[in-house]
Amino acid sequence: MTFSELGLTDAIVRAVSEQGYTQPTPIQAQAIPAVLQGGDLLAGAQTGTGKTAGFTLPILQRLSAKSAPQNNGHKNGRPVRALILAPTRELAAQVEESVRLYGKYLKLSSAVIFGGVNINPQIDLLRRGVDILVATPGRLLDHVQQGTLKLDTVEILVLDEADRMLDMGFIRDIRRVLALLPKQRQNLLFSATFSDEIKALADSLLNNPAMIEV
Ligand code: AMP
Repeated sequence: MTFSELGLTDAIVRAVSEQGYTQPTPIQAQAIPAVLQGGDLLAGAQTGTGKTAGFTLPILQRLSAKSAPQNNGHKNGRPVRALILAPTRELAAQVEESVRLYGKYLKLSSAVIFGGVNINPQIDLLRRGVDILVATPGRLLDHVQQGTLKLDTVEILVLDEADRMLDMGFIRDIRRVLALLPKQRQNLLFSATFSDEIKALADSLLNNPAMIEV
């Protein structure tokens, strides 16, 4: 199985080859076609399985295949089209780095925002326009409250390491974020473990999801 056979375009396959990836990992082989189809996904995967490329590659492809909607009353820049939530700043930064690497031959912009650092440079980034935003939940909500970010144009939502986000007490923040998103969207949930709390979140978030376990 090759990345091309999974349905990815040349621009993405080239970027992936440059990373030295010769073939998709098992989670990628399952997640990439499922996400390209546009449906929701529930994936059980640990770090180290290649899960990040499993969702970033098809997201890049979906967004580049379809142009952005009209600038829906957003003061500046391009409206956010994909939102990836991660539990920690390290993971968020790592995911955004992957988006950049894999999307180097596409015309999509990305940014990462997390707490514990000055908010002003993040405001400038958001003002310039971001297609793919990676964020930790608390700082994301700070931006919404300050009016420096709107989430009403998000087409794809990812919860990465959802179990860790719940362990860290982010469930209320996640629920607040969900309430700000358009109802019509694609939802992807990645988690290493499946407690009752994760199952409840998945039940309320996902519509008839494809299920993958590696
Ligand atoms: P992740 O599980 O997403 O944190 O990825 C773990 C590591 O595997 C990262 O260092 C990736 O760069 C690498 N990786 C992801 N996909 C592949 C692949 N298809 N072939 C080889 N390495 C990969």
